[in-house]
Amino acid sequence: MLGRIHSEDSFSAVDGPGIRYVVFMQGCQMRCRYCHNRDSWSIKDQPSTEMDDILQRVQGVRHFLKNGGVTVSGGEPMLQAEFVAEFLRRCKQQGLHTCIDTGGFVKRMTSAVRDAVDAADLVLLDIKQIDPDMHRKLTLVPNEPVLNFARYLNEINKPVWIRHVVVDGYTTDPEYTARMADFLAPMKNIEKVELLPYHKLGKHKWDVLKDDYELEEVEPPSKELLETLANILRERGLKVTY
Ligand code: SF4
Repeated sequence: MLGRIHSEDSFSAVDGPGIRYVVFMQGCQMRCRYCHNRDSWSIKDQPSTEMDDILQRVQGVRHFLKNGGVTVSGGEPMLQAEFVAEFLRRCKQQGLHTCIDTGGFVKRMTSAVRDAVDAADLVLLDIKQIDPDMHRKLTLVPNEPVLNFARYLNEINKPVWIRHVVVDGYTTDPEYTARMADFLAPMKNIEKVELLPYHKLGKHKWDVLKDDYELEEVEPPSKELLETLANILRERGLKVTY
């Protein structure tokens, strides 16, 4: 089976539990202003990669993945849900822990999307913004599909880590954090919330593509601010890391 792959990382410590082999899928419909993988948006003209070749590379490093596993990230992995489902199923057959890292912008809950979720032991779900208007400003798309996807994961009791980028002027108002906490707190499948401080590490990719990086002047959040937002989530009984 062929997939459109942006890149692979055979040794990641930040994409799920333990050391992970990460496959970054090509293609994304969101347009996050801070996107660190700006070159993953377009799915056109991307050569296809044979799944067996990736599985072979995973095999080559599997002794490093004992306490970790494989993660499919992006781009948006759910745009190639059939490939993701099959890839994760085959990794599971080899005894590997499986994870999907998604922006959750899933417009239709197709059987392929459900299969992909079923094949994942854990879903890392980015919630960019709980407020619909601010979400549009930050990502140029509505957040309802993302929130519906979160509800679905709760319904089927799929283990989830929420990821939330803290970016000044877009997500730092404590009122937004409180609303996100109220949305998440009743869900029993949320294992933790990871607050990710905004950074500019992907900016050079925007420069290469001659696209305007509008957050040039935005600085990473302070520790104090992260702690304030973390406490709002903790007050609702959520476990938080940053
Ligand atoms: S969802 Fe991820 S890949 Fe897509 S635009 Fe946002 S940060 Fe970039």
